[in-house]
Amino acid sequence: MGFIEEIKRRRTFGIISHPDAGKTTLTEKLLLFGGAIHVAGAVKSNKIKQTATSDFMEIEKQRGISVATSVMGFEYKGYKVNILDTPGHQDFAEDTYRTLTAVDSVIIVIDAAKGVETQTRKLMEVCRMRNTPVMVFINKMDRPTKDPFDLLDEIEAELKINVRPLSWPIGNGTDFQGVYNLYEKNLYLFSPSKQTLEEGIEIKDLSDSQIETIIGEKAANTLRDEVELFEGVYQEFDNTPYLEGSLAPVFFGSALNNFGVRELLHCFLEIAPSPRPSKTEHRMVEPREEKFSGFVFKIHANMDPNHRNRIAFVKICSGKFERNTPYLHVQLGKDLKFSSPTAFMADKKSIIDEAYPGDIIGIPDSGNFKIGDCLSQGEKLIFKGLPSFSPELFQYIENADPLKSKQLAKGIDQLMDEGVAQLFINQFNNRKIIGTVGQLQFEVIQYRLLHEYSASCRWEGLSLYKACWIRSENQAELNDFKQRKNQYMAKDKYGRDVFLADSSYMLQMAQEQFKNIEFHFTSEF
Ligand code: GDP
Repeated sequence: MGFIEEIKRRRTFGIISHPDAGKTTLTEKLLLFGGAIHVAGAVKSNKIKQTATSDFMEIEKQRGISVATSVMGFEYKGYKVNILDTPGHQDFAEDTYRTLTAVDSVIIVIDAAKGVETQTRKLMEVCRMRNTPVMVFINKMDRPTKDPFDLLDEIEAELKINVRPLSWPIGNGTDFQGVYNLYEKNLYLFSPSKQTLEEGIEIKDLSDSQIETIIGEKAANTLRDEVELFEGVYQEFDNTPYLEGSLAPVFFGSALNNFGVRELLHCFLEIAPSPRPSKTEHRMVEPREEKFSGFVFKIHANMDPNHRNRIAFVKICSGKFERNTPYLHVQLGKDLKFSSPTAFMADKKSIIDEAYPGDIIGIPDSGNFKIGDCLSQGEKLIFKGLPSFSPELFQYIENADPLKSKQLAKGIDQLMDEGVAQLFINQFNNRKIIGTVGQLQFEVIQYRLLHEYSASCRWEGLSLYKACWIRSENQAELNDFKQRKNQYMAKDKYGRDVFLADSSYMLQMAQEQFKNIEFHFTSEF
């Protein structure tokens, strides 16, 4: 197969949802349909049930599983599908944001009884920033649900995206009879006990009286009325706005009952984008460019505590990646060769000789990589779209064992490279500040420092509102600001200036007083 065909047949996407909407279940069913796994239960949820360290540690113990489920690739009907897993727990939201920079499209799962929930809304904002094409799966139709029209309105209003149903449910809860697939013009009947891979019943025309025979007169009439109603409201489905990220096709189903999943997958493979161009600081990189390039979006510490090596997850943006070929590590400014890159297939992890745009490869690493690092064939490409976001919580980190200060420094450094949290160095007192999205991360850091680096740390409370990355064309004003606010000035891991505002009032005052300074809640602007 040629290089271009290889790119065209790739579908790299993420499944996102608010916890409990059914992301894990849907992922597993997609893998079952794809033939990538053969029994249910093979996909382990990476969900953390409570905000409890013990849950996280349990998951840490199963690190092998969580590496394996980070990317699940499989071959299906000539397509190479790569599903990227995202942590559902909001304390790890930043990990999810970064993973979303490596996908070409997204499937959003929504619980039909609950509608749009907080986490869905936040993740959609990230998709919107990047115009990522999204498709919606409204799940749990076997339970009592909200009215489908209301759900669609809610999605439009809350997720700020136009919708276009491509299937339509017939009843819900105990009356749920199935869905009419508007894309394939098929009727699929629901039977909760039977989890089959059956094809739908072809019904090209909704006036076909076969429908009455199958679902009864009342349901048939309701279906016709509703389809007529929304065909009046929604425009004919058009792929272009979907690919531009402004229109979301919607499917209804029940992941648990295998229902609606096959149609979702088939339509997805047909219309979802193959690898898209990637933005760098100086230009767009097209997947079909001959020269290889890629970036690190995730780093995973290895399972074996005796060998503290890690796996860097690289998304291939252009060209063909080849094993044992020297590539430029742009940030380090030196060539590196990789002898054992791995591909992530749903059922196994194996060393590969080559990989194509859209693929994710794992590179064993002993400390060369940070999140955001770029690889190329010589060009100094810096990929965009991996910003740091202002943390929500901040604490000073202190050494609790004077004999282990080196270990602590190293541990902090490496955990920050992994993107576990963010480090700021206060320029006034030189103390280290760790910023996180949630309390759980502090506990994880403390635990991992102790178990992986034999270092003990102590936390000291620090009440801050936000970290703002600052910039100004006016150097004099910037210097003045930094001097006057020196107690609140810090540097991030990359040496960038950060203003630590201790209240929204303080930030507002600063903004009013220093009109020529830009204050940003993310590091990329
Ligand atoms: P996640 O947190 O989004 O990964 O959600 P899970 O896939 O773990 O599902 C959460 C719960 O909802 C589990 O108990 C599932 O069995 C259940 N569930 C998932 N899909 C369906 C469905 O279609 N119908 C019903 N009734 N329950 C479902």
